[in-house]
This record gives sequence, structure tokens and C-alpha cells, in this order.
Amino acid sequence: MQRLRWLSVALVLGALLLAAACGDDDTDAAATSTATPNATAAAQATFAPGSAMARLVAAGKLTVGVKFDQPGFGLRDASGKIDGFDVAIAREIGRALGLREDQVTFVEVTSANRVQYLNEGRVDLVAASMTITDARRQEVDFSRIYFRAGQSLLIRRDNTSIVNVTSVNRRKVCSVAGSTSAENIRNRAGQVDLVTMDTYSACVAALKAGAVEAVTTDDAILAGFVKADSSLRLIGGAFSVEPYGIAVKKGQPELVAFIDSVINAMLRDGRWDRFYTQYFGGIEGLESAQAMHSSLPAAN
Ligand code: GLU
Repeated sequence: MQRLRWLSVALVLGALLLAAACGDDDTDAAATSTATPNATAAAQATFAPGSAMARLVAAGKLTVGVKFDQPGFGLRDASGKIDGFDVAIAREIGRALGLREDQVTFVEVTSANRVQYLNEGRVDLVAASMTITDARRQEVDFSRIYFRAGQSLLIRRDNTSIVNVTSVNRRKVCSVAGSTSAENIRNRAGQVDLVTMDTYSACVAALKAGAVEAVTTDDAILAGFVKADSSLRLIGGAFSVEPYGIAVKKGQPELVAFIDSVINAMLRDGRWDRFYTQYFGGIEGLESAQAMHSSLPAAN
């Protein structure tokens, strides 16, 4: 009887030790996951077989089309490092897929070749200050709005003759081929002498060289150039509304829904606000993170 009692005590003790050991295992797993958050995300992220996300995870690679010359959105520095708000959003999408940072690669796109790059499969996503328009919706699909800009004008600080959008009539203004900016300015100032280039940085170089009198595109893009060079200034306020979306090749509704869920989570948990403040905070002429956040559709 006595022996039996000891046996049961030993059994209970054994069970307790076993539970403790399992507890230890859990702790180890947690410690490992803190060290490599992406590995944990990969283990957790399960996507429907055959979905675009499952395909990207299987390939172990997400290729994103971004701008390389736009301070604030996508800028490549001398060392080859790419940074900006669009780049940060793309990295979060990669992280949500469970990919490591080095599995997200960036390819330079221009305003004119963004749609073509998606449709040729050269990039999986485009995160490149791209306005959601009905015309573009015919060719690609867009995520929810993640940023709202408005078209404006960039001039040299010493220029006093351009005060608003109508004063650019009969003047040389630079914008980028394939952008809504080039299209809008023709509608707003019918007699503008429009010069189109491939990139906004080329337009800014032309402005500084005196080859054009103004550059026109979205205020947030232009403000990035002003931040980098105080001999330039924004003028004329915002004369269009430019809601940005992440573009994907048509026929992948599950990928659009997934990207929407990542953007929604970023809006909810403070990442969106942190990135906005990091890239646009304190720039003259731009709204605060809070103001832009509250003007975007709520995260659902
Ligand atoms: N948001 C505008 C557009 O998508 C201008 C900026 C750009 O060209 O990337 O056309």
C-alpha cells in the first residue's frame, strides 16, 4: 500500500517534470522567434494552395517595382541602399508573406513602364507613387488607398512670376511621361509648354539648370526635392487629388485582399504613422501623419 502511494507520487512528479520540460521548449521557441521574426512569420503564414501568396512564398522571392529617384517614396543612395515610404510598405508586405528582408528585391520602374512591368511579370507589385485611376484600372488592379497626394508646382525660390497653375501657360514646365501630372497640367493650363522626361529627378535637374521654369507632379514628391535643396519651393497649392494604391497584375483578387489586409494592419497598429513621420514628418507644406491618416478610408 505504502509502495503504491510512493509510486503515484513519483508518477505525479514525473508528469510535472515533463510539463516543465515542455514549458522550456516553448520558451526556446519564443526566444528563437524573437531572434528571427521572419522565420516565425513564415511558419505562421499559410496561404491557400495555388494562391498568388503561396506562389510567392514557394519562390522565396518578392520583386517590387519602385522609384529610385524620389526622396520620401523610393530613393537609391550612393551605396545602392533603397529607402522610402513605398519601399517600407513593400517590405511590410514581404514580411507578412513570411519572407526575409533579403528575399524582397527592388526594381526601378518609371511612371511610363509600371503597368508594362507588371503585365510582363518583371515585378510582382508596383509601389511607386501610383495614382489609382479608372484608365489604369483597365490594365492592372489596385490595393486600397495607402496615401493621398495632390498635384502642385515646384519652382526656383527666386522665381516670382509663377504664383499658381494658370501662370504656367506659355511657360516651359517639366513633368514625367505616363504620369497623371503630365495629363492634368495640360487640362489645367491649356497653353503650357510641356517638356516630358523619364523621371522627376531629371525634371528637377532641368529646373536647376534653367532649362524649364517649373516642375509639376504630386506635392509629396516635390516636397522631398525641396527638403533636399532649399533653393527650390512649392507654389500654387494642390490642384488635383491623387490617391495612391499598390498595383498588381489583374486576376489575383486574393493578392489584392492580402495587400489590403497588410495596409489595414499598418494603419491600425501605428506602423503607417511611424513611416509617414519618418519620411514626411516636418516637411513644409505637407500635412501631419495624423491628418493624412484620418483622411484615408478606415482600416476594416
Ligand atoms: N501619382 C502620379 C501618377 O501616378 C504622379 C507620380 C508618378 O508619376 O509616379 O501618375
